[in-house]
Formats: sequence, structure tokens, C-alpha cells
Amino acid sequence: MKKFADPLLTARNEKRAHVAPLGLRTLWFNTGTLCNIACAHCYIESSPTNDRLLYLTRAEVAAYLDELEEFRPMAEEAGFTGGEPFMNPDILGMLEDAMARGFRALVLTNAMRPMMRPRLREGLVSLRRRFGNSLILRVSLDHYAPALHDAERGEGGFQETLKGLKWLAREGFALHVAGRTCWGEEEETLRQSYAALFREEGVALDAFSEEALVLFPEMDETADVPEITEGCWKILGVKPEAIMCADSRMVVKRKGSPFPVVLSCTLLPYDSRFEMGRSLKESQKPISLNHPHCARFCVLGGASCS
Ligand code: SF4
Ligand code: SF4
Repeated sequence: MKKFADPLLTARNEKRAHVAPLGLRTLWFNTGTLCNIACAHCYIESSPTNDRLLYLTRAEVAAYLDELEEFRPMAEEAGFTGGEPFMNPDILGMLEDAMARGFRALVLTNAMRPMMRPRLREGLVSLRRRFGNSLILRVSLDHYAPALHDAERGEGGFQETLKGLKWLAREGFALHVAGRTCWGEEEETLRQSYAALFREEGVALDAFSEEALVLFPEMDETADVPEITEGCWKILGVKPEAIMCADSRMVVKRKGSPFPVVLSCTLLPYDSRFEMGRSLKESQKPISLNHPHCARFCVLGGASCS
């Protein structure tokens, strides 16, 4: 039998690991895969032409937010990812709807031109006035040095993102930054260098806080990884409750589909085996870890996209 094929058994005929649903803490929305840029290692292959995941509408998101209310008190956050969320024409309305219901709204953005358009800036400032720190922007700045960020994201990308980040900081938004560790530097060196950049640029962000500066490890997507069995949890000292799909899900709308569906997590947007149903309630079932990403990113790598 091939590896990662059978949802119940591994290639060696051992019981495959599962993650049981605990409820919902964070509900992610993929607002659409279109992005203003095409990064070399974008896990979701976003670009100015990739519309495999369509723009969600405000009404579609609102229906899921209504259902998310049933998952209180655990449910606390709505996450918005893309593509570039600020390209979705309904993004401001979606954020307003999430926060008006009392959820925190976390937006993953490159802080480039789509966010900096006057209508978006005005809208964001008004949301910030109304909802304060319930709105968090997590800006992707791959490295503290322009050359390495630009190697990933295209020339001039660093300066443009920095401009967006500085604007957000000036306006007093709650900010996080997402960087990457793939260039072989020690974490301490990275954090010190980001801290120096933030200081120089007047961005009030604590680079030594793991929440404020999230550093994502690099995973080789082509490397062979072992399958995770039920016995692995104990051997590895990893708890299934700590895995992203224990308490979060992601809503997407596939091209050609008339309605959105709920996926296990943010990491497997195109694999139909990880579609959990149309409603949040239906999505609350155990997840079989039968994708290499489950082993690579979540169980062995210790990385969770959220
Ligand atoms: S900015 Fe983000 S979504 Fe867009 S291509 Fe780069 S990594 Fe992908
Ligand atoms: S890749 Fe997704 S489904 Fe697999 S373990 Fe990670 S969070 Fe769960």
C-alpha cells in the first residue's frame, strides 16, 4: 500500500493518527487566492492569476460568523487569509461583521498596494476607532534585510511592505509581523535584527515576543516524511489537542462551486479529502492525518500556520 493513502491505516498497516475536534477557537476564511504578487514559496500558490479559491462574499462570511456564535465561549477569533485579503472587495464589511459579533479579527497581509488604497486605509482607520485592538494585522516581512525579502517576493517588495507597516504603526493598529527562518540564522540573531529594524523605522513592536514576531520554520515540501501513527503521539511527546485542526477550520469557496465549504485547516486548501462539509457543525469530526503536510508541518515540524 502507498503511504498516506488509507485514512485509517498507514502503509505498514498501523493505526493512523487522528485529531479529534474540540470545538472552534479560530475560524479562518480564505478570502480568495488572488494576490498582487507571486512569492517564490507561497504555500497556496497565490498570484495575480490564481483564482482557484474565489472571493468569499460578505454574506457568505456572515452566515458562518452566525454559526460560529454557537461555538462560544471557546470561539474567539476570525482569521482572514488569502491570497491578499485586501484585494477582496468585501473585506472591510467582513471585518466589521466579525468584530461587531465580538470576535477578534486577525488579517494576514503583505501590507502592500491593495491595503494602501485610500478607501481601504480610511475603512481600516474607522474600524480601528470602533473596535480598537480587536483588529490585528499580521504583516509578512520575510527577513529584516531587503535583499532576502525581495528574493522571495520580488524587487521593491520590502520597501513597499515597510511603508505599509509604518503606516499601520503610525495609526496605532495592533500589529504582528511574520518572518521566516530559512536563511540559517539563529533565532536570537533574527530577533535582534528585526528589533533594530523596528527601532530605526519607528515601528513599536516587540521583536522578542513570539506572538508579535512569528518566525516560521522552513519545511522541505519534497522531503520524504514518515506517517504518523496513534503510537507516535506518545513517542514524540506531541498532543493531538495542540494541532491546528483540533480547534480551527477554514472556509473556502472553490472555483466552479456555488457555495463555500469548510476545510480541516489552512494548510491543505486544494485536497478534497480534507473537506469537512458545508457547515461548521458538520466539520466537527475527527481528521485522519493522511497527508504528508500533517507529518511535516504539524506533528514533526511543530509549526502551525495560525
Ligand atoms: S503575499 Fe502571501 S499570499 Fe501573496 S503570493 Fe506571497 S505568500 Fe502568497
Ligand atoms: S495539515 Fe491540517 S489536517 Fe493535517 S495535521 Fe496539520 S492541521 Fe491537521
